Amino acid sequence: MSLALSQFCYLISAVCSILALRGLSGPESAKTGLRLGIAGMVLAILTTLLMPGMHSFFLIVLGIAIGGAVGAGIALKIEMTALPQLVAAFHSLVGLAAVMIAGAAFGSPDSYHISEVINGATRIHPGSLVEMSLGVAIGAITFTGSIIAWGKLQGVITGKPVVFKGQHPINAGLGGLLLVLIILLVLTQSAFLFWLIVLIALSLGVLMIIPIGGADMPVIVSMLNSYSGWAAAGIGFTLQNPLLIIVGALVGASGAILSYIMCKGMNRSFFNVILGGFGGEVAAGAAAKSDKPVKIGSADDAAFILKNASSVIIVPGYGMAVAQAQHALREMADVLKKEGVKVRYAIHPVAGRMPGHMNVLLAEANVPYEDVLELEEINRDFAQTDVAFVIGANDITNPAAKKDPASPIYGMPILDVEAAGTVLFVKRSLGSGYAGIDNELFFYDNTMMLLGDAKQMCEGIIKALEH
Ligand code: NDP
Repeated sequence: MSLALSQFCYLISAVCSILALRGLSGPESAKTGLRLGIAGMVLAILTTLLMPGMHSFFLIVLGIAIGGAVGAGIALKIEMTALPQLVAAFHSLVGLAAVMIAGAAFGSPDSYHISEVINGATRIHPGSLVEMSLGVAIGAITFTGSIIAWGKLQGVITGKPVVFKGQHPINAGLGGLLLVLIILLVLTQSAFLFWLIVLIALSLGVLMIIPIGGADMPVIVSMLNSYSGWAAAGIGFTLQNPLLIIVGALVGASGAILSYIMCKGMNRSFFNVILGGFGGEVAAGAAAKSDKPVKIGSADDAAFILKNASSVIIVPGYGMAVAQAQHALREMADVLKKEGVKVRYAIHPVAGRMPGHMNVLLAEANVPYEDVLELEEINRDFAQTDVAFVIGANDITNPAAKKDPASPIYGMPILDVEAAGTVLFVKRSLGSGYAGIDNELFFYDNTMMLLGDAKQMCEGIIKALEH
């Protein structure tokens, strides 16, 4: 394949990647987006393999086959709720790849055509040294940071923030030192400085992520996603590969935008998330304390109330994902619709554990897209709705976000379920959600708690509705 043709194929593959992101922005176009992304990636791999001067063809294909088989095996087995840690684990590999490529380029610059011989000495171009050192630093931070994020989300290490005195000045100092070392490396091309940058960046990755607490981890995974993109883009410059630069920048920018959306959904500043410590002080799962009585109902009670309602808004949350209750929930909604009840779904931007978590699950259960509405579209309708059916959600409905300035979720927009005639709350206990705080809504006069597993409760309600 000629160089001109390979550049043209790279351009098509870059356009496919951009269109893939565009497609993934909506549930109806997501499948087309995914197919375009796959097509772009296949074209990119084939183009790279057919490029002039390609060696070790067998080893590359073997690597792709082994990596592809392992990746496919993991992706087929992984639970939806474990996706954040899977993404973190995969990002660590992107970071490691960036470090290794930069190390190879630094050790053998002529193979990468980034050097010239001056007075008998091989000098790497200063521009390449800048790209390489930025790529290696961001890659090393991504590598260890992602491993820590994976360990926290997987429960291998404590998910609580690990904080110690002087943490922020130390991190800021290490960040500053990295910048100074990068400048010195560009001036001296010293191998010692190169590996010192790697070592400091590896340590910084650990120190930056250990103070982040449970509820903030998805934001951090998205931030590391962004870092891995920038590391890839940096290495793309070293390899003079335009596709890697474009795709790296797309990943970097989309990860940054996603982090921003999550922070906005939780009413937190990104800086505040990075500083960490949120969620560590409250024991997650602690039962809500109140002297007020709680109204506890059964599936039969819920079926009676739902059947007699003319409009119902379903509010799904993390617990629905854990219980895999989406199919039973859709069946329940279908039965209600047959009875003439208007049923819609309200999606909070941070319901579940990642943006779009609920949309994906509801789409999987074939819930019609037009029934699924975002917070801004539906929040005002709760006041004219007979029943809010909250299933496995907690924080996203907690009125403390509006009323209690001392609450860690104060200022976060919430779904105003309490404005509905009756609030049915499906969860297993009066325990707290991810933010680890009590929800006074459980004790409101118009609330009925349906204590139990989300899927079993839906199945119980369906049975009662059909009798
Ligand atoms: P929450 O974590 O607030 O609440 C989930 C509830 O589900 C729990 O209170 C739990 O109560 C219940 N539950 C767990 N398992 C089951 C089960 N099998 N059956 C029934 N109920 C169950 O989830 P929300 O979706 O309301 O809120 C999301 C939280 O995650 C927010 O705090 C948000 O800030 C945070 N977050 C979300 C991100 C995102 O992008 N989506 C990103 C970062 C953070 P019980 O144990 O009593 O059953």
